Amino acid sequence: MRKSTLSFFIILTTLFYTCSGTKDTSKSAILLYNANVIQVTDGSVLTDQSILIDNGIIQSIGTYASLKKLALEDKHIDIENKYVIPGMWDSHVHIDKLSDNFEHSESMLSLYTLNGVTSIREMGGDWKKIKKLKEASQKSHLLPTIFTAGPIFENKAFVDWVVENDNDIEFGEQRIGVSKAEEVPFLIDSVLKLGVDFIKVRTAASPEVFFEIAKQCQNHKVKFCGHVDAKVDLYDAVNAGISSLEHLDIFQLNGMDDTKMDSIVSLMKSLNTSYCPTLTYFKQHRIYDKKEISAFLYDSTYTSYPQRAYASESLLNKSKQAVGWAGQSQVPWKAMESNFLKFGKKIAENNVCILAGTDGANALVLPGFSLHDELDLLQKELNMSTLQILQSATINPATYFSLEDKLGKIEKGYIADLVILDKNPLDDIKNVKNIHSVVKSGKLISSFEIQAAFEGIKEYNKNDTTMPSVIQ
Ligand SMILES: [Zn+2]
Repeated sequence: MRKSTLSFFIILTTLFYTCSGTKDTSKSAILLYNANVIQVTDGSVLTDQSILIDNGIIQSIGTYASLKKLALEDKHIDIENKYVIPGMWDSHVHIDKLSDNFEHSESMLSLYTLNGVTSIREMGGDWKKIKKLKEASQKSHLLPTIFTAGPIFENKAFVDWVVENDNDIEFGEQRIGVSKAEEVPFLIDSVLKLGVDFIKVRTAASPEVFFEIAKQCQNHKVKFCGHVDAKVDLYDAVNAGISSLEHLDIFQLNGMDDTKMDSIVSLMKSLNTSYCPTLTYFKQHRIYDKKEISAFLYDSTYTSYPQRAYASESLLNKSKQAVGWAGQSQVPWKAMESNFLKFGKKIAENNVCILAGTDGANALVLPGFSLHDELDLLQKELNMSTLQILQSATINPATYFSLEDKLGKIEKGYIADLVILDKNPLDDIKNVKNIHSVVKSGKLISSFEIQAAFEGIKEYNKNDTTMPSVIQ
């Protein structure tokens, strides 16, 4: 190259980079600046931070001056000193129950992301529906990332009973009914071949079946979690490697003395067993507040229960049915509650891994919004600190899935799932409800987009939902 041509080239290149950034400027990068970044590992707040996001990943965190040239100027977003937390998780959800119609299920599923819940642990059900929604979620940043159990393992006798008594053929097709331990290896193999992320057990025909499921999952190096059937000793279930205990109302805790309870808690601590108390479900189904429930079911003006506007027809129908069942229940839940809560408090005090989960999309549990209720209840019922609560919805579930190097924190190299809050949730966990915007897989969902999506879902439910007859 001749000298004059070279000089011309250098001048041209310099001019180009001065106008549009540097040679490192990425056209697709976004830069959030003026942010307070919450570190969920220790509760510290890094003020005046800028977060550079590209290709769905946090590329860098630092001062505005050091990062501003790396994103085009119209991609710089002023966070106005709001608070940024990692995208949250709901660790107990059933997405097959969102709606009877697939498109509507998709928009109901977006209620998670719109409420700052960017990942969910899907606890099993109708595999066809779950698979379709999981595939949809991989293509849209408006939907949460899904980790699923697929079909649930049940006692075969229980499945047959439901099919016969409720004439519910579908239930039989959606569950894996097991009668004997010998059937377990083949059944675990077949479910894993579907591409599920872990195994969920609900009822078990015998302790032998339960322990065989534990053994097979261990052989396959796959997690198993769920309910510990009343026939199985709780200590033995933890010892067999169950990865998480679900729900506050674990039957075996009823009448259990402190010594045994303490031994289970310390075993959970040493084996890293998680606990997902689904307090929202317990409050709604076991200790239900009649006034609140009737507002949920009957208030079509949404004045006393504004979030009810987001309930789908199938959720309302199921809720009506569930209230009927709860009314007939002979189980003295209220009397049992104190022992359940005692166990939960011991778990929180001993810093056993707690996962915030709601049993969302089940009757009376609204997708997305219910996670905020759950966080409130973790404070109210288990006396957890705001930091512990934030951890239960961020780093704990990420660690549960061995993803603590990719998700659950705001650090360089992490997946860019973030929630931007108006106020600091460490001051008051209720501040998690004041969501300004969300970043999912590196894409910003602005405050305006969130409001528009909420309105759309509300409109759909209002126009196309025929109220269950009893509710009108
Ligand atoms: Zn559940």
